[in-house]
Amino acid sequence: MRVFCASIATETNTFSPLRTDFSDFEQSFYAPPGEHPVTPTLCSAVFPALRKRAQVNELELIEGTATWAEPGGLLNRETWGRLKQEVLDQVTAALPLDGVVLGLHGAMIAEGCVDCEGELIEAIRAIVGPKTVIGASFDPHSHLSQKRVANADVITVFKEFPHTDFVEAGEACVDLTLRTIKGDIRPVISVFDVRMLDVLPTSQEPMRGFVDQLNQMEAKGEVLSASVIHGFMAGDSPDIGAKIVVLTDDDRAKADNIARNLGTELFSFRGQTKPDYLSPVEAFRMAQKAAHGPVVVADVWDNPGGGVAGDSTLILEEAIAQNLKSVAFGTIWDPMAVRLCHAAGEGAVFDLRFGGKTSALAGNPIDATVTVVRNQRNAVQSFGASIVPMGDCSVIRLGGIEVVLNTNRSQAFSPDLFTNLGIDVTEKKILVVKSTNHFHGAFSDVAAEIIYAAVEGPYPNDPTKTRYNNLTRSIWPIVKNPHEEIVE
Ligand SMILES: [Zn+2]
Repeated sequence: MRVFCASIATETNTFSPLRTDFSDFEQSFYAPPGEHPVTPTLCSAVFPALRKRAQVNELELIEGTATWAEPGGLLNRETWGRLKQEVLDQVTAALPLDGVVLGLHGAMIAEGCVDCEGELIEAIRAIVGPKTVIGASFDPHSHLSQKRVANADVITVFKEFPHTDFVEAGEACVDLTLRTIKGDIRPVISVFDVRMLDVLPTSQEPMRGFVDQLNQMEAKGEVLSASVIHGFMAGDSPDIGAKIVVLTDDDRAKADNIARNLGTELFSFRGQTKPDYLSPVEAFRMAQKAAHGPVVVADVWDNPGGGVAGDSTLILEEAIAQNLKSVAFGTIWDPMAVRLCHAAGEGAVFDLRFGGKTSALAGNPIDATVTVVRNQRNAVQSFGASIVPMGDCSVIRLGGIEVVLNTNRSQAFSPDLFTNLGIDVTEKKILVVKSTNHFHGAFSDVAAEIIYAAVEGPYPNDPTKTRYNNLTRSIWPIVKNPHEEIVE
């Protein structure tokens, strides 16, 4: 059995002031064929999963490129063309193939291409022909197009948000693809368009119970796979929005029925899935009242994992204005400030301007006399089994506040983002992190309390106010009753 795998992944915020090119892939993660590390990098979890199966001689694995760019702005035409052609050439060279497994994110949008992953799968199908089994694994914050469904045989999606199950989703994609090649199963994919766009964290109800239900259906063998595409509200895609994906073993009617029932249930949760988002003033008031720390305050919308820069100073400005003590901020993206801190050296006290550079909506730069507490080359943090590069970093102190400045944009995934830089999180009263919900997985282990804070910024967080040029379907909350408006 000859199986090829590749992974091209990023999440494109088409409203971001940033732009994405090949250097962003190189900076986050780029592994040419055969050079994928032992650990998975979120979407590339299919690589280690396939290697495990190859080691027991179940298959001959032909590895292609695996690459990931931190979510950002529109991908330029040249970069998309280059990455796509690289993988297509690898597929052609690997023929004949029994299977192709793709570790995708699913929300990549390039100049001139609103459905990069659909175009990629379609092009691979054209090369390998109709008999080769194609499996694809997606992040739920993606846009599921008909082109992807029509050209793939197997689709799996991370079920958890935070995505603590990315390894399991990669393994499930590999397992279902191999079983299909062997003829043990004949998957049919059914998709139900839920026609809603919301934030769906699974760390709390009602989504917690919903995902437990999906896992039970799989465990009982009722379905081969059942998952939810949440959608990604910062990507102007015609396919934007939540969708249910159900795979059964050759039973189209059953798959359709289950997908419809699950979709109807999910639609009933609209508007009730998000945690309470407080203003920074309220969030700090609550955090100060806590008996002990650390209280984690999430800056939910200035999340580099959603494709914005992550250099907003709005919540930091509030902390400075309140003269808060025992606070650590992770992180503010500012390569220029990091360079100055490294040049100044640890222990230096000097006037630094940092943050607030990439968007008029993300606050002003901070001008302060700071102490350089720590300089670190090539700092990292962990996200489950993944190692996330933060580039050269500096920790600066101003009053009772320590701020981590980074050069590789990255959202806050784990407390080791602080501890790796010498900040003892258990000693801090408040930790402010830039992340919508991925932080929740690892930070919940150390947090006395978790508070979500929201400030307006460059992230388009309200679909009723966002101008989607490519959206032609009616979806909630833009339309109140999108299912009633459908005339089919
Ligand atoms: Zn995601």
